[in-house]
Amino acid sequence: MSPESIQPHRKGESFASPLSESNVTLSDIEQCYDIGRVVGDGNFAVVRECRRRDDGQTLALKIIERSKLVGREHMMQNELSLLGSLCHPRIVRLYAHHHTDTHSYLVMEFVSGGDLFEAISEKGKFSELEAGMMVSDVSEALNYIHCKSIVHRDLKPENLLIEHLTNDICRLKLGDFGLAMVVTEPVYTICGTPTYVAPEILLETGYGVPVDVWALGVLLYIVLCGFPPFQEAKHLVGVLLQPDPSLRLTAEQT
Ligand code: ADP
Ligand code: MG
Repeated sequence: MSPESIQPHRKGESFASPLSESNVTLSDIEQCYDIGRVVGDGNFAVVRECRRRDDGQTLALKIIERSKLVGREHMMQNELSLLGSLCHPRIVRLYAHHHTDTHSYLVMEFVSGGDLFEAISEKGKFSELEAGMMVSDVSEALNYIHCKSIVHRDLKPENLLIEHLTNDICRLKLGDFGLAMVVTEPVYTICGTPTYVAPEILLETGYGVPVDVWALGVLLYIVLCGFPPFQEAKHLVGVLLQPDPSLRLTAEQT
C-alpha cells in the first residue's frame, strides 16, 4: 500500500470522510511510515517523528487515541478540515490523515526545533529583537487565518513550533488547530487556556478573532519577561493584604 492509497489530502480536497470510517490497520500505516521517537505530547495526542518509506521524507505523526476524545470528536474534525485547508509558511502543514479502529494519525510537516514552551523553559526570556521576530511570525499566521474568518483559540507557546534556519535564526510555525473554528457570528463557548484567555471570552458577551490577538499580547509578555502577566506578585499581595490576621502571612513566611 502506498501512502496515497490511504486517504490522501491534496490541496483543495475536503475531508469529507466520517471518522468512523476506520479503513486501515496499524500495520498498513507502519508499511507506509517508519514511526520513530516521540517529539511532543499534548492533552489528546502524542506526536512522533516518522519517515515516509517511499520517498524517505521526515514527517510528524500526530497520534490521537480516539477514546480520549469522546464528546470532543469535533476537535479532531476541526483540525482535519481547517488545518487541511491551510497553506502558509508560518502554519504547520497537514498532508494526510489515516484512521484505524482506535486511533487517528495526522501526517504533518515535521518542525524540528521543538516548541516555544520548551525554549522558554530553557532560555527563560528573550531579547526584544527575538520577541519581535516571534510576534511578526505569529501575526503573519494569524492574519492569514483571520482573513479566512478562522479563530485559533489556543495560541500559546506549546502550540508554536520552532524551525531553525541557522544557528541564530529561527522562525515560528503555528500548530494545534484542535480549538480552531470558522467564526460567522459571535461565539459564546468558553474555552482556551486560562493564562491566555481574553476577557470577552469570560464575560460571555460574544467573541471572535480578536481573542487570538489578546493571546499574542500575553505571549509577548511571557517571552520578554519569562513569566506570565496577571500572576507575578499578585498572590503575595493577596496574602499580605489578608483581612483576617490569623490567615495573614507572618514576616518570617513572607
Ligand atoms: P495537542 O492537541 O494534544 O495539544 P499538539 O498538536 O499541540 O497536540 O502537539 C503536541 C506537541 O507535539 C506540541 O506541543 C509540540 O511539542 C509537538 N508537535 C506537534 N506538532 C509537531 C510537528 N508538526 N513537528 C514537531 N513537533 C510537533
Ligand atoms: Mg497543543
